[in-house]
Amino acid sequence: MKKLSNRSARGSCVIWPCTFVLIFLAAQVCGQSQWYKGNTHAHTVLCGHADSSPEAVAKWYHDHGYHFLILSEHNIYIDPSEVDLPKDARFDFILIPGEEITGSRNVHSTAVNVPRLIDWKFDSERVSDIIRDHLERSHQAGGEHILNHPTYKYAVTAEDMKGVPELRIFELHNAHPNTIRHTLDVDEGYVTTEDMWDDMLTAGMTVYGVSSDDTHTLKEFHIEASNPGRGWVMVNSAELTPDSITESLKSGDFYATSGVILSRDKKMGGVVEVAVDVDATLAELHSPYVLGHRLEEAAPGFLIEFVGATGRVLDHVHGSNGSYEAGREDLYVRSRISYTRRFGDGYEQFFAWTQPAFTDDRAESGPAR
Ligand SMILES: [Zn+2]
Ligand SMILES: [Zn+2]
Repeated sequence: MKKLSNRSARGSCVIWPCTFVLIFLAAQVCGQSQWYKGNTHAHTVLCGHADSSPEAVAKWYHDHGYHFLILSEHNIYIDPSEVDLPKDARFDFILIPGEEITGSRNVHSTAVNVPRLIDWKFDSERVSDIIRDHLERSHQAGGEHILNHPTYKYAVTAEDMKGVPELRIFELHNAHPNTIRHTLDVDEGYVTTEDMWDDMLTAGMTVYGVSSDDTHTLKEFHIEASNPGRGWVMVNSAELTPDSITESLKSGDFYATSGVILSRDKKMGGVVEVAVDVDATLAELHSPYVLGHRLEEAAPGFLIEFVGATGRVLDHVHGSNGSYEAGREDLYVRSRISYTRRFGDGYEQFFAWTQPAFTDDRAESGPAR
């Protein structure tokens, strides 16, 4: 195992000043991948407990610089072709069809890029069976599957998810007020989603973590409202199409964030390299919509932690870039990048979580860039 911390990490691609349109078109024509900002989980008035129309929700994400959105309604299929986008909509914004399969025993899943409504009525005493039913129905419809907010009502445990080894994507961070803190903090006797992730990864699963808003409320913004702009994914994709974005999610070619933006997220074998785009991060965190993880005591600034099997922190860097070379004995390495700043009498933290690079038999899976 060799450490490569604090090595300079700069993007290898230089883009000369140009209009964004030309850059976008050139990337599309050349098949060059780029980063797209998206939210995989949002609700509308159609569910009866959210406050805005599908058009208004789509417009919010469009107007705030997102590239894609899934209107994931509870057991209702919203056909994107029937949602009117703003007349002057950017050409680089799409809706990906989906649904929140709102199943038995508080097991919820997002069916991603499916062409029709997915049935949600299956029940079993075994939570694993319900998760598998959602996953299989999503796949049978030609789409992908995300297991949502396992800590919602503490409905899903790591053991439940390990009972479905084919589970590929779950919500590591869900910004709904009922679940947001559970990425890192839980009530006594329960397990955080991040600890669940390491449990699954250590057990040999190839599973990736997304961050989402689970938006319900656009008409009032406060800490107890499930507002947009608090959790999203940055997806590296060859094209901005539902199929291409879905393929990148499926292959782990993305990172999850609550506000930290990366200029580098590179994996080659067991080597991971990450660098923060400091300007882009500070611009995101200037937004009134972000919501940090509140702490009484913390050290301000950037911290990069490289996490391996059982959740052990293998190394860390106080700074905005670093790298780590994992050995086969580490099984995998992933990075958690935090930015801490003062908030009131205490502090608040924002994160980016990159997907694992595997060093065991799973090394062939996942992106290598
Ligand atoms: Zn849900
Ligand atoms: Zn939801």
